[in-house]
Amino acid sequence: MLGLLLARQDIPVVLLESHVDFDRDFRGDTVFPSVLDVMYELGLIDKLMNIPHTKISKLRMQTPKGTIALADYSRLRIRFPHVTILPQPNFISLLVEEAKQYPHFQVLMGAQVDGLIEESGQVCGVRYRGQNGRGEVRAQLTVGADGRFSRVRKLAGLEPKLAEPTMDILWTRLSRKPSDPDLATVIQSDKGILSVSPRPDVWQLGYPIPKGGYARVRERGLEALRRSIAGIAPLFEDRVDEIKDWKHISVFSIQAYCLKRWYAPGVLLIGDSAHAMSPIAGAGINLAVQDAVTASNILGEKLKANDVQLVDMARIQRERTLPVKLIQGHQQKLQKRLVEPLEKEGTPPNLPVMMRVFFSIPFLRDIPMKVLSFGLRPVHIKA
Ligand SMILES: Cc1cc2nc3c(=O)[nH]c(=O)nc-3n(C[C@H](O)[C@H](O)[C@H](O)COP(=O)(O)OP(=O)(O)OC[C@H]3O[C@@H](n4cnc5c(N)ncnc54)[C@H](O)[C@@H]3O)c2cc1C
Repeated sequence: MLGLLLARQDIPVVLLESHVDFDRDFRGDTVFPSVLDVMYELGLIDKLMNIPHTKISKLRMQTPKGTIALADYSRLRIRFPHVTILPQPNFISLLVEEAKQYPHFQVLMGAQVDGLIEESGQVCGVRYRGQNGRGEVRAQLTVGADGRFSRVRKLAGLEPKLAEPTMDILWTRLSRKPSDPDLATVIQSDKGILSVSPRPDVWQLGYPIPKGGYARVRERGLEALRRSIAGIAPLFEDRVDEIKDWKHISVFSIQAYCLKRWYAPGVLLIGDSAHAMSPIAGAGINLAVQDAVTASNILGEKLKANDVQLVDMARIQRERTLPVKLIQGHQQKLQKRLVEPLEKEGTPPNLPVMMRVFFSIPFLRDIPMKVLSFGLRPVHIKA
């Protein structure tokens, strides 16, 4: 996104992507209204909506005590009153194809950054291992948008102090039939929790487990896992056998942090590399896109004048830290309530009464929904 935003301001950009395509399973696919607003401002909303997708205006959580409305976008007076579920690889490919229309944009696929070029204490580019051997790119500014395990962050000495992650998540998918009913976004039963995301042809499922609990899941066996999924969501009873092998299950360690400093001379971190997000409530893509818009707004003219200062990067961090921390706080609370009880066998996860009351009042439940979607205020493209 940042590459596209800078290229359309005639700023030369080289995008390095370590993989040869964008098709990776670890990515979620929940796109919030604020991202759709950004795509609208870029004139790309029709192209985005041509990608097969599903729209959800109400997010619900099904519990043994009844269904709780977590969010209802149709109540908000916004341009796109829904969350859109669309495959992230298609979304990113669209951005890259658009960026390629600008003569100053270049993308190197299969180019893994493994070194920073430093001169007089300033980062002035990267070294990489590419499909045709080693190479280097010199640049006025190096942006590490390289995710939770950011290499750029490590090379720049900006590593976070990591708290012990509290949960892992098993990620899998099952086929989706045209006759399938709508399901709640989160289904909670005394057998566990399942997050359910309807892609056009598959259900993407998240199955949280206590940190380090995968060995025990494997010990119990694949059939026990299938039974557990079907027990939580009986709709899947007729298709859990599609999970034929452990290789159909991806395990993610859920780590959330926000770096003390997102920048150093010549280098800036945005997205997950600056603040890895838990997948709970799926806000990571949203925040990463908003970081990119803020960075483009603040740095565009500075880059043209070859005058990016540390204070400019400090401003980006200042503007983005509060929304990130608010959302991480909200995610942590939900995680504590829903996932940590899973550690104590036989303790069904539950929302406390106060939280149930909160979500039963539409005006109150609009607040976290707005913060999740837009941060404290919407981010708009300036140039
Ligand atoms: C299981 C799971 C489910 C999630 N579900 C959702 C969801 O539904 N909705 C949501 O909003 N968020 C979700 N998230 C969070 C979301 O995926 C991230 O917050 C978001 O992808 C961050 O975007 P990013 O561009 O910062 O990093 P990433 O999406 O991680 O992209 C980083 C890119 O950098 C590349 N890269 C890495 N190292 C190098 C290198 N050395 N050289 C060159 N390239 C490199 C990677 O290949 C990758 O393409 C989920 C996260 C997890 C773990």
